Amino acid sequence: MKCVYCGSNKTKVIDTRHDTQGNVRRRRECENCGQRFTTLERAILTTPLVIKRDGRREEFDSHKLISGLRIACARRPISAEDFDRIVDRVEYTIRQSGRTEIPSHTIGDIVIEELRKLDEVAYIRYAIVYLGMSDVESIRAEIDRIRAQRY
Ligand SMILES: [Zn+2]
Repeated sequence: MKCVYCGSNKTKVIDTRHDTQGNVRRRRECENCGQRFTTLERAILTTPLVIKRDGRREEFDSHKLISGLRIACARRPISAEDFDRIVDRVEYTIRQSGRTEIPSHTIGDIVIEELRKLDEVAYIRYAIVYLGMSDVESIRAEIDRIRAQRY
């Protein structure tokens, strides 16, 4: 990092602060002229593109995710805060992955994991739609699996 006063390359970091958004503020001192200055490194969090089952790419859409959740969770004891928390969890996880593209089933897996903890009926409904469980046998097998975990 060049000194903003004299242009010298000899600067040292004397203090580093991280904020909750992932930004880093560094207090620096120039070893040439002795001036101090602060630099800010802004975290650029990018949300990866979602690779759909048919291979198309689309932007991650939290509204779409919430509307899918609302359908799965209709008349179930799941609050708006729960939806928000699930969406936050998904966004956080896919951003942290550092990938530029992510398969839609990865998002489905995160949602399913969260729903499983909240409500079994909502979980099964979501799984039927988003895992494409189309036959009674695979749905029954999944229900049996949950029951086995519970007892
Ligand atoms: Zn300087």
